[in-house]
This record gives sequence, C-alpha cells and structure tokens, in this order.
Amino acid sequence: MTTGPLPPAELLDAIRRGQSFVVASHQRPDGDAIGSAMAMALALRAAGKDAVVVTDAIPPVFLQPFPDVAGIQITPEVTGTFDAALIMECSELLRTGVRGLDRSPVMNIDHHPGNTSYGAINWIDESAAACGEMVFDVIRALGVPLTPEIATHIYLAILTDTGSFHHSNITPRTFDICRRAVEAGVNPAAMARRVFDSNSFGKLKLIGALLDAMELTDNGRLAVLEMDEGMLNACGCTHNDTEGVINLPLTAREIQAVVFFKTGPNGDVRVSMRSKYDVDVRSVANTYGGGGHKNAAGFTVAGSLPDVRPQIIERLVGAISEGLKSRP
Ligand code: 5GP
Ligand code: MN
Repeated sequence: MTTGPLPPAELLDAIRRGQSFVVASHQRPDGDAIGSAMAMALALRAAGKDAVVVTDAIPPVFLQPFPDVAGIQITPEVTGTFDAALIMECSELLRTGVRGLDRSPVMNIDHHPGNTSYGAINWIDESAAACGEMVFDVIRALGVPLTPEIATHIYLAILTDTGSFHHSNITPRTFDICRRAVEAGVNPAAMARRVFDSNSFGKLKLIGALLDAMELTDNGRLAVLEMDEGMLNACGCTHNDTEGVINLPLTAREIQAVVFFKTGPNGDVRVSMRSKYDVDVRSVANTYGGGGHKNAAGFTVAGSLPDVRPQIIERLVGAISEGLKSRP
C-alpha cells in the first residue's frame, strides 16, 4: 500500500515507553479533530496504555454518536501530568482551549501548513489529507490491530477533512487507508449518512434562509453568506447547525469560492472559507492570523462585519483569479 513519511522514531519511542497519555485537538472540533484524537486514544488503549481525550466543550452533535466520544473529558484545564500530551491537528497549543497540557511533554502531530511547531516533538506531514492518515501510520508502526472502532474514527477523519472526497488533498494513500478501514468493518454508506444526512428540520430552514440571502460577486464566482444570532434563533438552531452549510454554494458550477461570515454576541466576526481546485483560501486566512488548507480555511477577526467585509472579499477575488490560472 502507499504510505506517507514514517512517524519520527522519537515519537514512536515516546509512545512505546509511556504508559499514561492525554490526547487533545483544536477548539470547535471537526471530524478530523475528533477522529484523529479518538483513533489515537483507542489505539493507545489497545496497546495496553491509559489515554484520556480532553476538549474544552461538548463536541458537535453530529460527532457524538461515534465510538467512545461520550467518554471525552470536557475541561478547561488538565491538572495532572502524563508521560506525553499528544496534540492532534492543532496549529498552536492555545487553540486546544485546554490549559495545562504543557505540564507533560508535548507531541505535536498535524498536517496543516503553518503549524507553529510548539511541541517537544513535532511531526508535521502536509501530504496527509487528514491527521487521521497520520494516526493510521502510527498504528501500523506500533503494530496495533485496526479495530472497527479505530477504523471508524480514521475514516471519519478522512471523510470530513477531504470535504467528502472533494478537496485537492486526496492521494492514493488516502484510498489505501480507507480500503483498510472498510476491510476492518467500516460501512462507507452508513458513515456518509451519519455525517452528512443527520440534519435537524431547523437546520434545513436555516439553510433555506442562508441561501435565500446569499450574495454573488466577482461575476458569480464568489458566494457570500452572512449569519447573525437572530437568524439562528428564528430557525431554532445553534452554531453547531451551521456545520457543512458552507459547502452548498460550491455545488453551483460557476462558484469558485464561498465565504461565510458569522457574527456573534462578542463582537468578533468568524470567517469560514471554501474553494475549488487551486483557489487558495488559506492564503487569505493567513493574512488574518488564521489557517487551514488550500480549499478550507478560516479565521476570526475583531471589528464589525461592514468594516471588515470589503477587504476580505477583495482578497478572495484576488485568490480566485490567481487560482483560475492553473485550472485543470
Ligand atoms: P472551518 O471553516 O470549518 O472552521 O475551518 C476550515 C479549516 O480551517 C480547518 O482545517 C480548520 O482547522 C482551519 N481553521 C479554521 N479557523 C482557523 C483559525 O482560526 N486558525 C487556524 N490556524 N486554522 C483555522
Ligand atoms: Mn485536519
């Protein structure tokens, strides 16, 4: 099978030697955050070790049914020390939202360009479509059997971080790992239904309202979505219900990128972006201190939406014209 770069020997040694582990990922976890952290923790447990997964808030509803997610410890701070703190797909330690992780030796495992290398050991593999692919490599190197539960989390990580196999980060390795996951008992149809077809009626109403108010600019190449608390409340939704909505405008042939502005009670503007092919929205996120991938990135910016919106749109229009130059 196609494999990625091998996990660093120091990381494997630290895992082999250690007994107690804390595993964390980034705030507002997505499928790769939960999938890679849970797969890592389940693999450590399968190897006879103690592993606790910590997050700062309850994971989104669509991720809750997956194996052992209910056992995640929700806490703002870790007080104990562990043989290692494994931080999965998190650009900087602060972004875990959990304090005290650096009381233990920090192992930084990520596939995002722009990771700040905050660990005692840093393993950044930008060729991985999801951090879940890297966990698969660790599991293989450790000789831990791929249980259906571990395989489920790895598949969840890949399914979500490739935007259900839409993004340009997919490689033969991605499918080799998915094949192994399916052989281990994962049902791809059931996974797709659970991840993408578990909306509430309120969310459908919210989608309707958002798309109804969608604006097109740059000759229909850029879609702009805006949402405030009032819209959420009117549809009986929470912020979790916005998951995945941003991908819908990209289903229109002409649309090359989408920006989704969310304003909240604290005055910040949360900005999510998605794009097709070589339109690089991460470069726009970087200008504002955020990050992500070429086709999926985000950031938070202080200020009012009318103030910040024009400049962000201008940068996206620039990214679109740049990206279209190399369109396949
Ligand atoms: P989303 O738009 O779904 O929140 O995020 C899309 C991608 O961008 C994910 O890979 C996510 O980790 C990354 N991302 C979103 N917001 C931020 C941010 O504020 N900082 C960094 N470094 N990455 C972000
Ligand atoms: Mn990821």
